[in-house]
Amino acid sequence: MAAKDLDQIVNLCKRRGFVYPSAEIYGGFRSSYDYGPLGSLMLRNVKEAWLRTMVQMRDDVVLIDAAILGPPQMYEASGHLANFSDPLVDCTVCKRRFREDHIETRDCPQAMKGCQFTPARAFNLMFKTFAGPIEGAGAEVYMRPETAQGMFVNFSNVLQTSRKKPPFGIAQVGRSFRNEITPGNFIFRTREFEQMELEFFVPPAEGKKWYEYWCAERMNWYKNLGIPESMLRIRDHEADELSHYSAGTADVEFLFPWGWGELEGIAQRTNYDLTQHAEHSGQKLDYFDQATNERYVPYVIEPAAGANRTMAAFLLAAYDEDVVNDEPRTVLRLHPRLAPYKVAVLPLSKKDTLSPLAQQIFSTLSERYMVDYDETQAIGRRYRRQDEIGTPYCVTVDFDSLEDNCVTIRERDTTQQERVPIADLALELHRRLGF
Ligand code: ATP
Repeated sequence: MAAKDLDQIVNLCKRRGFVYPSAEIYGGFRSSYDYGPLGSLMLRNVKEAWLRTMVQMRDDVVLIDAAILGPPQMYEASGHLANFSDPLVDCTVCKRRFREDHIETRDCPQAMKGCQFTPARAFNLMFKTFAGPIEGAGAEVYMRPETAQGMFVNFSNVLQTSRKKPPFGIAQVGRSFRNEITPGNFIFRTREFEQMELEFFVPPAEGKKWYEYWCAERMNWYKNLGIPESMLRIRDHEADELSHYSAGTADVEFLFPWGWGELEGIAQRTNYDLTQHAEHSGQKLDYFDQATNERYVPYVIEPAAGANRTMAAFLLAAYDEDVVNDEPRTVLRLHPRLAPYKVAVLPLSKKDTLSPLAQQIFSTLSERYMVDYDETQAIGRRYRRQDEIGTPYCVTVDFDSLEDNCVTIRERDTTQQERVPIADLALELHRRLGF
């Protein structure tokens, strides 16, 4: 099962401390969200799972962390100043604004019928601000609308310092900003968000091969982290959706409660970006292949994913309700790598006699994992709480533990319990978690 509607996840996120509306004590700040104690752990886990697959486990990808603020010249070269816009329409009846390509019919999507729309005009999505004490021409800077340009402008730096050669990739994870006309659907579309992007540089003749490779790899990433195949699809862009330089683009889509929505775009960008930056900067951005004595501008394959959207998809797919011992429970069947806590240590009672041993187990396990420690309320309620936040394993310390040096491991998905010697606990959890 998965969540049937978005509210199930929105409520759980608020109730358990995953995601709060931003600046809530001031009434909330327009489609912005703050990640609470559990949400910030989970968002970090999403990014770490991406980094593990895309950087750590490959010898052909390196990581960078580029600046968020950038000069106009960079965005002139990339085409963002001229083209990074959505078609904006105003309704003269309800006075709202909409993205033209998001309006299904000419009726107002907010249920007010009889809307009259103005012709669409291009609305640039970049946030502009000013650097230094004087606002005005010459001081404008832009907040990046994607992390990608940081990789292109550092192509030569990375090539020289990392000793990589095509095919190789530069990866980056970080915040991007877009002045979206209609943010919404919780953390699906917000004005600031985190991206996980790879620019993979290849010899031009290998563009198609690597594009197909990355489409398959990226689908596997989502599947391996627990999204069922029935909720995942890859959709090739139609010819009229493609940017002029693209030799192919596909979206990885997830079945959200409101329909299919993009999690990631994978694009074959040819040599467009490097060529543009080379022209505008006057710097050479190419590669000399000593083996073939050839100089060429590499083609780029770009898998570009969003961390927040992906986190929403993992939460929706993991959400489940079942009945255990005649009691209904909510359980997040999250992949252990994504779960905020991997283990919860629960002394059966708050009595002083159990705390020292339970604390000692917490200290040992927390060297390796993010571990929760909870000693208040009845044990059944504590299990329910851990189920609801997706903790794969609970470790219960009871009075027998003081005698037999054993504890009980309880598994989230099956609720099965097994007694294990404390001496074997770390190894047993490692075996079960897989890391
Ligand atoms: P959309 O069509 O939904 O506006 P896009 O095609 O413009 O998205 P890309 O430019 O391909 O998006 O960005 C790559 C990824 O970054 C998206 O697949 C998405 O996961 C994420 N992303 C883009 N815009 C937002 C946003 N406003 N809020 C959250 N995530 C976003």
